[in-house]
Amino acid sequence: MSATIDHTRFRPTTLEARAGPGPLNAAVVFWVDILLLCVVGLLFVLTLPRMLAHFSRGGGWRLGLLLRHTTATSHSDEQSVSSRRTLDRRSIITRTACSSSSENEKPAPTRVQATHVRSWQMLFPHMTHVLRLPVLGRIHLGGAVICVLYFSLLLFAALYRTSIWTNPVRAAYVAISQIPVVYLLATKNNVLGVLLGTAYDKLNYLHRFAGRLLVLAANVHAIGMIYRYTLQGRWMHVIAETDISWGLVSLVLLDILFLFSLDVVRRRMRNLFISTHVVASILFLVTVCLHMNAAVPYVIAGAVFYGLDRVLRMLKSRICTATLTCLPELHTTQVHIPKLNSGWRAGQHVRLRILSSGMGPYGWAEAHPYTIASASDGTVQEGIVLICKKAGSWTRRLYDIAAENRRGALGGSDVRVLVEGPYGGLGYTGPDSFSGSVFFAGGSGISYGLSGVQELLEHAKSGVGSVRCVDLVWSVHHPDCVRPILPFFAALLAESKAADIALGISVFYTRALTADHSFADLELPTGLSLTPGRPDVYSILVGLTMHATSSRDMFLGVCGPSSLGGTVRKAVRDVDNRRIPDTVGRFHLHEEIFSL
Ligand SMILES: Cc1cc2nc3c(=O)[nH]c(=O)nc-3n(C[C@H](O)[C@H](O)[C@H](O)COP(=O)(O)OP(=O)(O)OC[C@H]3O[C@@H](n4cnc5c(N)ncnc54)[C@H](O)[C@@H]3O)c2cc1C
Repeated sequence: MSATIDHTRFRPTTLEARAGPGPLNAAVVFWVDILLLCVVGLLFVLTLPRMLAHFSRGGGWRLGLLLRHTTATSHSDEQSVSSRRTLDRRSIITRTACSSSSENEKPAPTRVQATHVRSWQMLFPHMTHVLRLPVLGRIHLGGAVICVLYFSLLLFAALYRTSIWTNPVRAAYVAISQIPVVYLLATKNNVLGVLLGTAYDKLNYLHRFAGRLLVLAANVHAIGMIYRYTLQGRWMHVIAETDISWGLVSLVLLDILFLFSLDVVRRRMRNLFISTHVVASILFLVTVCLHMNAAVPYVIAGAVFYGLDRVLRMLKSRICTATLTCLPELHTTQVHIPKLNSGWRAGQHVRLRILSSGMGPYGWAEAHPYTIASASDGTVQEGIVLICKKAGSWTRRLYDIAAENRRGALGGSDVRVLVEGPYGGLGYTGPDSFSGSVFFAGGSGISYGLSGVQELLEHAKSGVGSVRCVDLVWSVHHPDCVRPILPFFAALLAESKAADIALGISVFYTRALTADHSFADLELPTGLSLTPGRPDVYSILVGLTMHATSSRDMFLGVCGPSSLGGTVRKAVRDVDNRRIPDTVGRFHLHEEIFSL
């Protein structure tokens, strides 16, 4: 294909005619999109074995899709909360659950083994460690490489057999061709995530990067065209034309999207970020079609992704009553929704709206993400439990409502809530297919630790999974943080007997003991330790590899601040570098970090 219009001398009448070598522009970006689709197809084929293994479990295809209420509970009394054992005070224990439990010595009952397919990170651990090195904020080397490759591809599309000086329209084609990519990556119900077994929040950095390239390309196009028309002395004439005016409106909308999604706005004025994003992104789809006919197919694709996501989000929304309880030691509010007791997987989160005037005039409009702290169909605690730390004004108001203690049905303050989800999670990784698991939690990250442990116990009790030992390591500021969670820990330890899993819970506190923060009156159950200082992650992992009896792999879950993720990542790298990888199992690391 070649250029059909001599755009240095044109006297155009329509936008397409003004546009220059339209067919080549359209063809280049079309084939770039086809190439992107091929890459996704290839990654999908590589993901397929894990996807099939996941779907081959009973009901695997519908795990973690819709929150619901199930009434059929076949839990025996001995498996229920009331089975908490006598609390038994214990001091520091430096052990791993695999090695210490005497129950571990008796032969384990036969369970149905969950199919285990190694992920790419486990097949090439050394390469994975390199790709996980942090580069910029939360972006790791692997993510940076993907961004560079993507940028190079779009640069190629912008420059192939043309130049931005002579053909600024190519940049417009590059921009419109990325509309489906940007809108797809923005969705919570993400088709790409389903194909690749990756949660939407893990792809969010790509949405931001692709969005910025789209804005950049649109601006390059606009500057080039304005420059050209001004040189020709025709700017005042063309600006009066409708399609050009819509082009300018589209540009303004894109620049609004960009400016109001900068980190500083996203973190400090989240409502402004969300409202401008929703309004401007919808208007942009309309105005860009009015500017450029060639945008229509791309806009349709983007609108389909966006519309489907909105419909699914409505289908995934539930309005119910929640009981709010203050946990002052943790500066958190516990949100308990007993009516929703099924339909999620450990590691998934919901978006929570509080429909109460106590949250302020617009409080109901804010949806905040929270990792579910209980297991689906759980016997330790039935229903969704969220642990919401006081972080800013919204969570402070939530805490204040809970502190009012308005004597709801469950003893806290009852409020109406809108819960949307579940989202995120582990994709096609099944922690019950490993031989053991360790959960590292920091502060309110205990939510994932609690649901992760509980889910493994539930699976083992129902005769599924190969997990024999589980460790939960929790870092907190003060030792009395353990107080509100203690009954939950005690119940989990009691349940672990029924599940025939060696469970160890280690709580580490970093602040000194004071009269206000002590645990002298606490009775700690066997299996729970309280230790000053930070956990020695490396030693814990070495302990696991030393006690590993086979080459089965271990699952590591991390939840909390990003610094904890960094510590665990480094420890995994050190252990992997120092042991003989073929004789013992490998680690699969999953991180849940509380920021988007
Ligand atoms: C996937 C995920 C799971 C999470 N799970 C938990 C959990 O189990 N327990 C817990 O205590 N915290 C969790 N968080 C963090 C929690 O969502 C924020 O602390 C909370 O939204 C802060 O609200 P705020 O207005 O009180 O604080 P602000 O001071 O307004 O915000 C504090 C921080 O939270 C971020 N934030 C604010 N609102 C939102 C929002 N709507 N969506 C995403 N981020 C937001 C801001 O960017 C800022 O960095 C999770 C976050 C994510 C992304």
